Amino acid sequence: MAGEPQSDCLFCKIVAGDIPATIVRESATTVAFRDINPQAPTHVLVIPRAHHADAVSLATEAPELTADLLREAGEVAAQEHVAAGGYRIVLNTGAGAGQTVFHVHAHVLGGRDLTWPPG
Ligand code: 5GP
Repeated sequence: MAGEPQSDCLFCKIVAGDIPATIVRESATTVAFRDINPQAPTHVLVIPRAHHADAVSLATEAPELTADLLREAGEVAAQEHVAAGGYRIVLNTGAGAGQTVFHVHAHVLGGRDLTWPPG
């Protein structure tokens, strides 16, 4: 069921503490941790504790958590001192766009020049 932990989900396991991660921030509804393969000096993933597959599923199934996710992404950027210089919030949606973990996660990227269009 939407929102329930999935036994085969990597990020549900991080939420549960069953897989270690470098957690930088937590709220009642979200967890933020460093990406294992950083693409920028700051590369943090922000996830809802509840399991939702992608950004659109989250917005449909639990719209209030979508706001929590984006607000926490902003808090991470401030905490990491990249907010003033500009940063990127990325929500890869679908395998064709590079989504590899189907527990929605906002990438917070900053600390270097970010080019457009993204590669
Ligand atoms: P996606 O490609 O789905 O948008 O992003 C998944 C992200 O999760 C990738 O940037 C990848 O480096 C990161 N990742 C995959 N496995 C782990 C892990 O075990 N721990 C952490 N901290 N990040 C992971």
